[in-house]
Amino acid sequence: MTTTQPLELLAPLSGVLLALDQVPDPVFASRLIGDGLCIDPTSQTLCAPLAGVISNIQDSGHAVSVTDDNGVQVLLHIGLDTVNLAGQGFTRLVQEGQRVLLGQPLIEFDADYLALNARSLLTLMLVVSGEPFTLLANGQVEVGQPLLRVSAFQPADEEVEEEGEALFSKPLTLPNANGLHARPAAVLAQAAKGFKASIYLHKQTQSANAKSLVAIMALQTVQGDTLQVSAAGEDAEAAIKALVTLLNEGCGEAGVATVEVAEPSAPAASSTVLRGVCASPGSAFGQVVQVAEPELTITEAGAGDALERAALDRGLLAATVALQRLQDNATGSAQAEIFRAHQELLEDPSLLEQAHDLLVQGKSAAFAWHSATVTTGKLFQGLGSTLLAERAADLADVGQRVLKLILGIQDRAWDLPERTILIAEQLTPSQTASLDTHKVLGFVTVGGGATSHVAILARALGLPAICGVPVQVLALANGKQVLLDADQGELHLEPNLAEIEQLEAARQQQVLRRQRDVAQAALPATTRDGHHVEVTANVASLQEVEQSLALGGEGVGLLRSEFLYLDRNRAPSPHEQAGTYAAIACALGTERNLVVRTLDVGGDKPLAYVPMDSEANPFLGLRGIRLCLERPQLLREQLRAILASAGFARLHIMLPMVSLLSELHLARTMLQEEALALGLTELPKLGIMIEVPSAALMADVFAPHVDFFSIGTNDLTQYTLAMDRDHPRLASQADSFHPAVLRLIATTVKAAHAHGKWVGVCGALASEALAVPVLIGLGVDELSVSVPLIPTIKATVRDLDLADCQLIARQVLGLEEAAQVREALRLYHAATVETSPVVEH
Ligand code: PEP
Ligand code: MG
Repeated sequence: MTTTQPLELLAPLSGVLLALDQVPDPVFASRLIGDGLCIDPTSQTLCAPLAGVISNIQDSGHAVSVTDDNGVQVLLHIGLDTVNLAGQGFTRLVQEGQRVLLGQPLIEFDADYLALNARSLLTLMLVVSGEPFTLLANGQVEVGQPLLRVSAFQPADEEVEEEGEALFSKPLTLPNANGLHARPAAVLAQAAKGFKASIYLHKQTQSANAKSLVAIMALQTVQGDTLQVSAAGEDAEAAIKALVTLLNEGCGEAGVATVEVAEPSAPAASSTVLRGVCASPGSAFGQVVQVAEPELTITEAGAGDALERAALDRGLLAATVALQRLQDNATGSAQAEIFRAHQELLEDPSLLEQAHDLLVQGKSAAFAWHSATVTTGKLFQGLGSTLLAERAADLADVGQRVLKLILGIQDRAWDLPERTILIAEQLTPSQTASLDTHKVLGFVTVGGGATSHVAILARALGLPAICGVPVQVLALANGKQVLLDADQGELHLEPNLAEIEQLEAARQQQVLRRQRDVAQAALPATTRDGHHVEVTANVASLQEVEQSLALGGEGVGLLRSEFLYLDRNRAPSPHEQAGTYAAIACALGTERNLVVRTLDVGGDKPLAYVPMDSEANPFLGLRGIRLCLERPQLLREQLRAILASAGFARLHIMLPMVSLLSELHLARTMLQEEALALGLTELPKLGIMIEVPSAALMADVFAPHVDFFSIGTNDLTQYTLAMDRDHPRLASQADSFHPAVLRLIATTVKAAHAHGKWVGVCGALASEALAVPVLIGLGVDELSVSVPLIPTIKATVRDLDLADCQLIARQVLGLEEAAQVREALRLYHAATVETSPVVEH
């Protein structure tokens, strides 16, 4: 039965009305939470726009929901980002569950305080139960004035409550793991609306109109609750039968139930959260868009060698041009580098030879190119190296690009809706680089790793992303609202308002903090009690050195020299090498450190022009200094090239993967001989990386023979915990915050300082703001960090006190596992660094 008496909602405040589209907050403006309107308030007491029950009032007092007896629910939300104020400026006048009268005061707020401390005072009134409404006012309104007419609402059906008229089902047990939360409740309400009968759902003494999503949710059911369905009306019997079946089947949550099953070795996943690994930090709330690539049809037989060869050449040329355009438009060096590497693949002699052989055999250009790239990709994947497997993804990407060009298939730009969260089996680097960041807020992939090029690009684009997510993610419906919390590696499938608000507010705080940190990047990294920490950069090119200086970098703590030539098929000439080092040294000048690490190849970093035997365990094989000592000419040539820069910067040479003292002695002898041959009277500083447990444990033995140590926490973690650093399944456990790793850092620093030597950390741990207090507390002298993070790490140091850091460092060394360390540091961080929200000026 539908009433003819529509419900009128009164203005909860005096002020000026605005349409939701004008609200500068995408979550509200896009009506994701509900439709309604906005008031720019001139009064300071929020009053009930309808009579009903307080179905929710946030602890922070900034939002309240009122639900009337017919299930119409209205959310009132005072200001934007006011959740951050943690209750300051608000006085709650009512409690959850309390019945309120029309116009009753609900919350008082201090408009002056909010104006100073929150983003905006704009207040939202949203009909979250979804009934349509018409607007009764515009412009200036007074509190209590009629604002909206809610046109179709269903009142409680008195007849149902009349004894004897309603039919009741047998009691049933609710199977849903999280009770009837929003989605199953919506499914149930939708099904109930298909019947004319009035239908109620009963839990003990409570009843809810089964056609109202909000009423069902308000029952607050949990798994195992005993429920009954009642119905009154002509189709009551059919309604009960259908709804009981639906309830027993989980109200459409069967798919989610499979999602719930955590992969055996994956961290536990709840029904509403899918977990992966953070590929690029940040968070976003948006809608699912599944990416499906069309299948391409390839004809095997060609139309003649000459014709097909011309078609292949045309495809290759067009791809080269397209990749050049992508490089020219790249927003950062990482992006440009990746497409340059793709261009190199187009010229790869072995690939072209395979393709040409097939053309000679009468195959088509498309078939020949496709076979060559697929065969080589499989070869890469079969070599057991994660890095090469990721390069296989690059090859597949280039392969598709050329193939489409040969087949004349236009790469249609994806027509994406606003606030897209892309979901894909795997994205290619090209797809990632060409994402429209106005529409795409983040992405989630089943494949990929944190070190893949796609992850590097996502970080360069500032797009939150997670990878290694269970395949069930591919079954999510397009348009579903989800919350991506990449920092935690989580995709929330049923986010609630509080979660969304918190993450949105946190994201905005991050943006503001970033702006502030960049503006102050030139300030030194000195703790509040006057202890200076050197913050330098990890670089792989001259361009990155220049960027680091602009962002306040105080030198180069790690030049990964192998990256200068990683994508080359031929060894760089000694002259070219010397030129590269000299350019970097000159950019830094004589006042800054330049730490050049000698070639660190092998393991996950094969170098095309240094042929290596395949090894069963490349990470435990001939890598780093071991490989160089096996091929002394390679190391001597590099040392000569580095020495040519002596005098241009404060030159330091660093040896990677040292595990034995003899390796250091051999390398030092070579360095002395090469320096002597060049007529140098003074040797550059010589140090070693501490990335093997033996070196950390024997740091007191190494210390007298070095000028400095730099701790490579990436490798130190994998060797200490015996977990492959690129293993997607171990990513969450191979954590550098593990107390075992921290204890090795402590041992190293103690030994170095006892011999008057300095210690840096150049592994990724140094780039984590959370780790800064513990590293400083342990006595680390230098943090060498990824270029974009220099301002953040410097600002973090400036927020700390050395004395506190020493206390927290001592405390975490005694903890049992990485998660406990992270939690302790998070609490410490929240109490120090994040005490005051950054306010926009
Ligand atoms: C490390 O292992 O922490 C390190 C800095 O070296 P790379 O990551 O280049 O192996
Ligand atoms: Mg290393």
